[in-house]
Amino acid sequence: MSFPATSGAAALASSGHRGIGLSNTVHSELAACLPLPSLPVFCGASDQDLRLVDSPARLNRVDVLAQSAKIAELLRHTDVSYLNLRDEAKGVPYIYVEPLELHDEVLRCNPEAFEYSTAGHVKEQISGSAAVPEKRQSESSFPIQSQTQKDYNAIHSRQLDNFSTNDISSLSSKKLKVKKKGGDGISLAPDSAELQGTYIERFREFLEDLCNNAEFHSDDRDEAEWLPLPLTDLRLLVNEITSIREKKLLHLVPVEVLVRLLKVLDHQIHRAEGLSIEECDNSDSELVSSVLIALESIHAALAVMAHTDMPKQLYNEEIIERILEFSRRQIMDVMCACDPSYRALHRPSENTAFEVDDYEDNDAEFGSASKKRRTSKTSKLKKSASSRLSTAVNTILQKLCTVLGLLKDLLLIERLSDSCILQLVKTSITTFLVDNIQLLQLKAISLLSAIFYLYTQHRNYVIDEVVQLLWKLPYSKRALRSYHVREEEQRQIQMVTALLIQLIHCSANLPDALRMASNGNAVLEASVDVSYPIKCHEAATESCCLFWSRVLQRFASVKTHDASELKSIIENLVTDLLTTLNLPEYPASAPILEVLCVLLLQNAGPKSKDVSARSLAIDILGTIAARLKRDALVCSQENFWILQDLLSQDAAAQHHPKDTCCVCLGGRVENLFICHGCQRLFHADCLGIKEHEVSSRKWSCQTCICHKQLLVLQSCCNSQQKNDVKKNHDTDSEVSKQEIVQQLLLNYLQDVTSADDLHLFICWFYLCLWYKDDSNCQQKSSYYLARMKSKIIVRDSSTVSSILTRDSVKKITSALGQNSSFCRGFDKILHTLLASLRENSPVIRAKALKAVSIIVEADPEVLGDKRVQSAVEGRFCDSAISVREAALELVGRHIASHPGVGFKYFEKIAERIKDTGVSVRKRAIKIIRDMCTSNANFSGFTRACTEIISRVSDDEASIQVF
Ligand SMILES: [Zn+2]
Ligand SMILES: [Zn+2]
Repeated sequence: MSFPATSGAAALASSGHRGIGLSNTVHSELAACLPLPSLPVFCGASDQDLRLVDSPARLNRVDVLAQSAKIAELLRHTDVSYLNLRDEAKGVPYIYVEPLELHDEVLRCNPEAFEYSTAGHVKEQISGSAAVPEKRQSESSFPIQSQTQKDYNAIHSRQLDNFSTNDISSLSSKKLKVKKKGGDGISLAPDSAELQGTYIERFREFLEDLCNNAEFHSDDRDEAEWLPLPLTDLRLLVNEITSIREKKLLHLVPVEVLVRLLKVLDHQIHRAEGLSIEECDNSDSELVSSVLIALESIHAALAVMAHTDMPKQLYNEEIIERILEFSRRQIMDVMCACDPSYRALHRPSENTAFEVDDYEDNDAEFGSASKKRRTSKTSKLKKSASSRLSTAVNTILQKLCTVLGLLKDLLLIERLSDSCILQLVKTSITTFLVDNIQLLQLKAISLLSAIFYLYTQHRNYVIDEVVQLLWKLPYSKRALRSYHVREEEQRQIQMVTALLIQLIHCSANLPDALRMASNGNAVLEASVDVSYPIKCHEAATESCCLFWSRVLQRFASVKTHDASELKSIIENLVTDLLTTLNLPEYPASAPILEVLCVLLLQNAGPKSKDVSARSLAIDILGTIAARLKRDALVCSQENFWILQDLLSQDAAAQHHPKDTCCVCLGGRVENLFICHGCQRLFHADCLGIKEHEVSSRKWSCQTCICHKQLLVLQSCCNSQQKNDVKKNHDTDSEVSKQEIVQQLLLNYLQDVTSADDLHLFICWFYLCLWYKDDSNCQQKSSYYLARMKSKIIVRDSSTVSSILTRDSVKKITSALGQNSSFCRGFDKILHTLLASLRENSPVIRAKALKAVSIIVEADPEVLGDKRVQSAVEGRFCDSAISVREAALELVGRHIASHPGVGFKYFEKIAERIKDTGVSVRKRAIKIIRDMCTSNANFSGFTRACTEIISRVSDDEASIQVF
């Protein structure tokens, strides 16, 4: 990797293992969201969170350093005044925590690299920045940041006297200072009010000019007429709005000007109503441009409306409805243009007007609908797209993605009418029926999640639509896994599963106050009822329950020939959920699977008369249980240092080695350094940090820092409580090992920047899960809340986890997952499967045996379990030969690898030597022979030989061969 000074944005995207929202966004979309010279903070970038690489240490690699001359050269030609390098920031690099070999190297090449000579004029220019990041608008701007800083200081001086920041982490306190300094440097100068005024005034003039151009006052009529605006003007308008949004000034623009603007835009949309790019085969450029004008107008209108703190009179229902309707039609058109089979299904003849409602009726007749679906594919379609049209389609598609994104923002601001919401749901769900529009689908997922979160009364409706979607997905596209699992290369799941997971994340009713709290005090004041998190967990469970019971109902009612199709739908979902199980960003996967298991355990029992339902249940339960067993095995063998304490919880004692690095448990004995909190020893490189960061200071390891952070949070919450209510019980300041590990995960999630607030929902979801299992939770509900935004309250938390690698966080998530009620359900599943071994139907018995065998495959020690042994040995005497043979095979397969376990079965296997089935006799003899050969000291050796010899006279020739 060469140092990406020139293409910083692209490099961030590709190396981008930071952002929770990154890996599923198209790079071109992302690039526009980054300030162009995207340099690391120490080079002057204004935003602390915009870093080129995860760890500053990587900047010191030889190949990066080799680029310093180029960087210096680049900086020579760059007006660095854009980078907010002010005088007061000059001293920054040297006290900044990041190792600065690169910085020094650049300075060596050009001592003036970071100087600036002329004052920048960007601030005064109204349309200087063309592609102003749409995404960054929601992120806190500097005034908020300094506000947070104040809050922090306030809390700090009030109650944290014994936990000065230096104490928490000397390492990060420096960072804190830098941040503060940087913050001052980039906050608006004293003359900012004046500057703001001019800025707004210019914007207002620009809007008025634009409106004047669009309104045409003819003499013979009182009312104005409307002229179409050129596309270039509208694009300019969008840029202007984006830029003023970015500066957080939009709400200061006089409301009447904005109302007039919206009216003008509305007319631009109105002009294009009813137009469809589908109808212009000869690439009617006028039609295309009308559509583009309307979409650009929608973009502008939504950009205004979806901004926070805007006056209420902007939200005209009629305009919103027009926007929704127009966008819906364009989405349908784009889908038809992108996928001929979809087009054939929904537009059988060119002239039929399309109605959304037409797909509601195949609800009832699933079979015929699916037939229609398959036959229609073969019909040949004329190629509608000239290359010019396809360019237009692409442009429209991009625009629609933006529009859906803004609609989601709008939802969080303004409550829309029920009919609007239902229409949005339908439109968004429809996008999943077509391939190659992944970005639009991702936007739809986020929009649907917002609806699910905000409009609880429509949750059932959304779930119903999702279930309907499952049946409607074209067969060929069912197993199409086009959603890239975050941060995991090579792992993909179906879009519809991603949608389901996201909906469940949003179903846990994250408190609004907590979602919006942007400073420490707001978080601490956002208290909730002690039972609230439990209710939230219940809400999530309810949504899972609703989803699966709808799916299983369908399974129960469907005719047999569709049953296999349905079964594969369910299995695909389970596969996806297992793919995401115990990954940091997908806490919902476990409860979704858990609910499915609970429902299947009920159905799998003797209650369900239907054999196919029982066998489906056994198959799925077996798959899930095998995975749980495998994870448990992996976790128990794990000796990751952070998890050591968690696993050996009883002895809070020092299990860690006294004289060696506790990460690698060995290696060199020199260069070890000690944590002042827990006295553990570490190698610097084992933790991925620089030695000089550690040696000079009083250093604490990640867990100790996290421990202190939690103590600070507790004391914050306790004093807050005392202020509110006179609760004087001295909450013991105990922080459990588990809480520390949990917090490492939460910090990691807070750390990864997310364009939308998705990580908040994820953190909240985790907290609700943990809260349910915490017996002492009642006393510390506000503490739970505070943990979610610990980063805001205790400012230095971010550095704690940023050192953790993705791999470590996955181990942590997985270990925490072992304590979940889902994992604890393993025994219950195994028990049910063992019970199914005694079923009357041989088909079911065989299924159950297969399910048990894949669990055994995951961990052969399972065979040693008394219950398993008696159940499996019971199958040695099964009435069906095939089952007897399969049971023997199950044990036989693991004789070599786990002889100890196998010998427990010796007695019963020996009996099988006299079995009436030839294949069974054969297998039994083979197993006993394997036992003898794999272990010379086998106590049953003599007996085994006798048994085998007794068969020499077997009437079956093939057995004598042994
Ligand atoms: Zn080590
Ligand atoms: Zn420590």
